[in-house]
Amino acid sequence: MDPEKLRNIGVTAHIDAGKTTLTEHLLYLAGIVDRSGDVLDGTTLTDWMSQERERGITITAASVQCRWRGCSINIIDTPGHVDFTAEVERSLRVLDGVVAVFSAVEGVESQSETVWRQADTYGLPRIAFINKMDRVGADLEAVVESIRERLDATPVPFQLALGAGEDFRGVIDLIHGTALLGGRGRAPPVSTPVPEELEIEVELAREQLFNAILQDEGLIERFLETGEVPAADALAEARRATVEGRIVPVFCGAAKQNLGVHPLLDAVVALMPSPVDRSCRRRVPEPDPKAPLVGLAFKIQRLPHLGTVTYLRVYAGRLKAGDLVRNSRTGEAQRVERLLVMLAEEGLEVAALGPGEIGALVGLRGAATGDTLSDPRRPLELGELAFPEPVLSVAVWADRAEDSGALEAALMEKAREDPTLELHHSEETGEQLLSGMGELHLEVVLERLREELPFPVRSGAPQVAYRESPSVEALGLGEIDRTRGGRGHYARVALRIAPRPRGSGIEVALSEAVALPRELSDALLETLNQSLRHGPLLGYPLADLQVVVTGAHHREFDSTDVAFRTASRLALGRALAEAEPELLEPVMRLEIMTPDEHTGAVIGDIASRRGDVAGMTVRGRLQIVTARVPLARLFGYATDLRSLTRGLASCSIHFSHYEPLPANIAIELIGRGRRG
Ligand code: GDP
Ligand code: MG
Repeated sequence: MDPEKLRNIGVTAHIDAGKTTLTEHLLYLAGIVDRSGDVLDGTTLTDWMSQERERGITITAASVQCRWRGCSINIIDTPGHVDFTAEVERSLRVLDGVVAVFSAVEGVESQSETVWRQADTYGLPRIAFINKMDRVGADLEAVVESIRERLDATPVPFQLALGAGEDFRGVIDLIHGTALLGGRGRAPPVSTPVPEELEIEVELAREQLFNAILQDEGLIERFLETGEVPAADALAEARRATVEGRIVPVFCGAAKQNLGVHPLLDAVVALMPSPVDRSCRRRVPEPDPKAPLVGLAFKIQRLPHLGTVTYLRVYAGRLKAGDLVRNSRTGEAQRVERLLVMLAEEGLEVAALGPGEIGALVGLRGAATGDTLSDPRRPLELGELAFPEPVLSVAVWADRAEDSGALEAALMEKAREDPTLELHHSEETGEQLLSGMGELHLEVVLERLREELPFPVRSGAPQVAYRESPSVEALGLGEIDRTRGGRGHYARVALRIAPRPRGSGIEVALSEAVALPRELSDALLETLNQSLRHGPLLGYPLADLQVVVTGAHHREFDSTDVAFRTASRLALGRALAEAEPELLEPVMRLEIMTPDEHTGAVIGDIASRRGDVAGMTVRGRLQIVTARVPLARLFGYATDLRSLTRGLASCSIHFSHYEPLPANIAIELIGRGRRG
């Protein structure tokens, strides 16, 4: 497939804005047509509904392909809930553009804002689709304003609504200057002249649109003189403005009524970048089919009938079934048995995937999300995805000892599929500790495990995943000098540890003075990195510190890597003991939307959870309260908030940062930990 004819897009939305409904209609319009011809022509509403119901299941596939106007559109799933940050990140990474759905009544909501910011980070061009224009209270202009204000974006309406609420019946296409009415089932909307009473409004909106998109001198002149620009030229200019991120084109409709969906698909083809457009702005290889293969595995998923598949976005080169690919993380090369593209519920076997294309690889073992797959003769690495750290953990075990092997294998598979899950084995209790991004995240994983495994899976109450960090600088020395089995084991390691600013992570380095053979310095660094996973207080991972090996001494014939491992552990242990380590707890950022009459109760409740209110803004009749609250005090918060506000408030929770625990609580925790 010509990369210019590809579109890799994601649909993002706050929950209930209509992401699922819109995606289903996009697939309904574009998905089935190419596959089975015109079987749906003239079908009744019930047939249509059953098709839709099928779609509902099928879009659990991480990427679904459909066709529209000669283009191949991959719709890549981007889950909305923040507990699934990793899923969002990995989809954003392989997307070229985003359709951001907003409700015409609720406007910009917290989750859509979060994903918007993430898309900013990835420099992704966006189209806004204002959905639910058929609902009472729909207000296109207000939503456009809130996109401008809350998201610091430059929204430019490409459409006006024909009516709103109950009499919403279509849209006005400003580029072409026509009204598009209705369109039931798969029938395209009917194009008619703009109603007379709207002519002036349309004139003004067109002027704004052309002012925003035109950069070509000739076209600007032409527009000033005649008030017209040929639609094809206008679209080309609009495309450039969108791809460069200068504007966010705004479209509207009611997905549920199939109003505005047809023009939106046209807009995806006309305005959203192809892999060719993207490669100029992102540091990824040019989409050259003759270049060596390089692609990114962005999701590992178990699908019915297919087993485990690896979703891959190819950046450059061509991957053919039967080819060998090298996994940059494991260094291993494997043969790809089969290649599929997902067309709604079915995989369609294909012989090859070219640059920009997305497909599912069957039969690949051991790949993880974020792995680069490349030509074994020309290995490449696309750079790892960075994920936030898991903040909550839960103990998981099986009743019978003979099931624990299978449980562990299943847990390891989950952790491999999802980079925000971590698995620890607790040496004291023998339990598996599974850490993740939040209560919902862990719940979903446990639910899936319970479905898959034939024996009961037990789990404890979720626990906060603390961190440990030094509060002052300290030095440590470790020395080993002994003879065992007729062989000398000698090593001497001196190091310095120092706190780093919160959120800056861990840095381990050798000072220039250190001159060691490669295998010994490797052993030393590896040991330090491993030892930092278990802190001196309660065994939680260390955070925000620098370790510099200031001196290391070896003797040519009796220095071994074992000696260096032991000496570096000793040195680090001694330094940590001197560094007055403290316990850090994850603090979350809350954004609560509540009717004003409940603001007092919400704020009082935050204070009682050791939280701080960081800000309040008014939006219509709602108050938006932002606050920071320790995760330890947020268990069951969603339920508590509901009962506090009679179900009228909503809230989003994200990880914000780690902060030292108040001394009295830390002392109690450490005391309890030490006792058992
Ligand atoms: P998601 O959570 O973003 O995936 O939203 P859904 O697609 O599940 O939609 C949430 C609710 O809004 C459902 O009850 C839909 O039927 C309804 N909905 C979706 N689109 C529209 C629309 O255009 N108009 C109206 N009135 N309701 C809609
Ligand atoms: Mg949904």
